[in-house]
Amino acid sequence: MNVMAALQPTVLVVEDEPAQREILSYNLEAEGFRVARAENGEEALMLVAEEQPDIIVLDWMLPNVSGIEVCRQIKMRPETRNTPVIMLSARSEEVDRVRGLETGADDYVVKPYSVIELMARVRAQLRRARPSAAGMQLEYGDIVLDSETHRVTRGGEALKLGPTEFRLLSTFMEKPGRVWSRAQLLDRVWGRDIYVDTRTVDVHIGRLRKALCVHGGEDPLRTVRGAGYSLG
Ligand code: CA
Repeated sequence: MNVMAALQPTVLVVEDEPAQREILSYNLEAEGFRVARAENGEEALMLVAEEQPDIIVLDWMLPNVSGIEVCRQIKMRPETRNTPVIMLSARSEEVDRVRGLETGADDYVVKPYSVIELMARVRAQLRRARPSAAGMQLEYGDIVLDSETHRVTRGGEALKLGPTEFRLLSTFMEKPGRVWSRAQLLDRVWGRDIYVDTRTVDVHIGRLRKALCVHGGEDPLRTVRGAGYSLG
């Protein structure tokens, strides 16, 4: 899977041992992921809110706030409840315990783990949580978006979308009904490292609307005053 072909998904790596954190981050970046790093539970919870990662790889043994507690808090918050969490644990007995504790973790990997296996599990969780990043087809009403071929149709008719409009539509179609602020759209569609004026978002939303309605049909995008935009 070439994750770069779609939107670059963000993985949050929570690991207190620097060497392990770096090896894991290095491998994830080599796979085309954007990586955010946290070395303890407090930092992890802060980054979860700030970076809105698509998936979290979380060590069980962390100083102060444990991985289990971090997981519990992630799964308690409505905005992060559906973000997949893969727990890393040093011993298989811990894995049994974490299963028993019902922390809501989506998967468990025992240390020392094989990097190849962990990558496969990250991709599997991502396919479930972010289908467009995993090269799948998304549908909303009569709109169909194929993230692998980059083709979009409405009512069976092909639509012409620029690359930015395509990424915007992918973002909306992943979470219909979710209201995205201009800043969130900038982060996700343009990337964090690029400076773009928030008005640019409005320009591209305008182009996307036009492209979606070129063969008729209602405008599916909603402007939410003071908040941003949503699909439906
Ligand atoms: Ca640890």
